[in-house]
Amino acid sequence: MRSSSLRRGRPRKATGPLLQGRTLLPAGWFLAGWFLVGCSGPEGGLEAEGRSPGPGQNGPTLVAADGSVDWNTFHDHAQTVQILGEFAELYPHLTNLRVIGQSYLGADIHLMEVTNFETGPAEEKPAMYIDGGIHARELTSSQVALYALAYLLNGYGNDSRVTDLLDTRAFYIRPKFNPDGSDLVLHEDQWLRSTVRPLDENEDGIVDSDPPMDLDGDGRILQMRVPDPAGEWRKDTQDPRIMVRREAGDAGPFYRLEREGIDGNGDGRIASDGIGGIDMNRNFPRNWDRAHIQDSGGAFPLSEPETYATVEFIDAHRNIYSIYHGHTSGGFVFRLPSAMNPDSLDRSDLDLIVHLGDYYTRDTGRPVVPSATHPTDRRYGTLIQWGYSDHGIIGWVPEFSPPPAQWVPDLNGDGEVTEHDWHLYNEQEFGGRYFQDWTPYDHPQLGEVEIGGWWTLFWGQNPPWERVERELEVQIPWILHLAEQGPLLEMDEPRTTPLGEGIHQVEVTVRNIGFLPTNLTERGLEGRTMPDGRVMRQVARSPLVILEVEGGTVLEGNGRVRIPHLAGASPFSPGVSERERTVRFQVGREAGEGEIRVVIEGEKGGTLRSGPIPLP
Ligand SMILES: [Zn+2]
Repeated sequence: MRSSSLRRGRPRKATGPLLQGRTLLPAGWFLAGWFLVGCSGPEGGLEAEGRSPGPGQNGPTLVAADGSVDWNTFHDHAQTVQILGEFAELYPHLTNLRVIGQSYLGADIHLMEVTNFETGPAEEKPAMYIDGGIHARELTSSQVALYALAYLLNGYGNDSRVTDLLDTRAFYIRPKFNPDGSDLVLHEDQWLRSTVRPLDENEDGIVDSDPPMDLDGDGRILQMRVPDPAGEWRKDTQDPRIMVRREAGDAGPFYRLEREGIDGNGDGRIASDGIGGIDMNRNFPRNWDRAHIQDSGGAFPLSEPETYATVEFIDAHRNIYSIYHGHTSGGFVFRLPSAMNPDSLDRSDLDLIVHLGDYYTRDTGRPVVPSATHPTDRRYGTLIQWGYSDHGIIGWVPEFSPPPAQWVPDLNGDGEVTEHDWHLYNEQEFGGRYFQDWTPYDHPQLGEVEIGGWWTLFWGQNPPWERVERELEVQIPWILHLAEQGPLLEMDEPRTTPLGEGIHQVEVTVRNIGFLPTNLTERGLEGRTMPDGRVMRQVARSPLVILEVEGGTVLEGNGRVRIPHLAGASPFSPGVSERERTVRFQVGREAGEGEIRVVIEGEKGGTLRSGPIPLP
């Protein structure tokens, strides 16, 4: 059946020369960057350690025997793969670890199928797709995906909600969408949007010709404050660590702020052409456009192996009804519409999306905001737009990690949370480790500058290491809620009735006991209207009822009937009304023993299989 169409990730030829960008970096960049930000906490990051051990290198166990993991950390790709492998060993009956493609640099892209395999394979159950890490510095999103995985696995058999979900549904969890980019950030604190595929951002004819650099070798790429009479910044009068915008009448000295680095390509600007530059969440084939319109969309839609693998996987898994596409930072969720004119989004679909999003706000107190708000000035080539337009799937872009202003208390009691409070809090809670005091540095091109500032990777972009777990756990209720909202088909035991003269009637009733309809959205109902009024080639295919007969033949038709979409409990789906449908077949009995089986290929609602039923 459909399982035969499951494709293992096939090796895909990289579409560009491997490591090309690396060979063109300024001399010394690679070595200078080869300090580890740390796998043992931020303190470790300040020392030059080796890389963390990967799987097969006898590294320490990352998943304890009871399924617990140290979550106040960020795992690199090797550690993530190790965690996936250890969970697969711990819960073999609930997991299937697979590789769905290779990254630009050739790393395997892992995806864990999670379900109770004793109640059926993942591809025959309604499924939720969860990923993280498409954007390189958005490390928290990978941790959320891993945490959700652990929560589901550890909860099975202990938590009836989780048990029920894994008995009836499946999850496809892909923590590292973009292992190359995430590792470059975690290991070298590099600044890049997404993939490491080289791109000539400053159009000087050389790709990645001027990335930021860790000049002082402390493992972090921070800021430089450069004395400059025309600079837009001055020191705060109370706390000279704090830089404030210059205003008319201010006294100097003034500074400009630059990212730590050099002018490596002679264009007069510091760090003007960093690693990569393509944004893979502009590379999906809906409202994609070229560089003069959307400058980071890649050479063509799905030009990147990571996005190609995504579309290939989701296309091949028509049981997916929800896309949870993790990003980091801000502390809110982007909802549909995304890369489309918001005015053209179906009104019922909008109501449904708002309804589902409200649960997030209720659970977390955080807002859900549309990804697109303007009819023409809008995003290009996003994953959730593709998922909606091409499959009718509602996707979400949770932006984890609220800004410090939302979690740092007003410690100095002046009635507002300012950078003064940040410093107090950083010192009080974290030993001051997320701020590097401005330290003089003899810059080869700029002369005397100072390097320092906030370690923004873990102060703003992602939470401080000590606060990661609390950011992960608040995401779980909504993930579970979304997972529970899919369509879910149920079939009555098929009934056979002898009609005489060796003819039997087979009656099959299938119903949707889930919340969403099998079309998921009104978008899912769209298709090509035929002259007889039937709508074919729908965006989301409706259930197919298949009768298999041994020792007999189906009279009339071929035993395959595509029934209309089935409504769920959702009040936001005006295009469908029937929640159940009965299909009747006639079977002509042959000599000898005969039996029938019924298969419902329910697409988003899952696949159902009857046992063999003897023909009397
Ligand atoms: Zn992002």
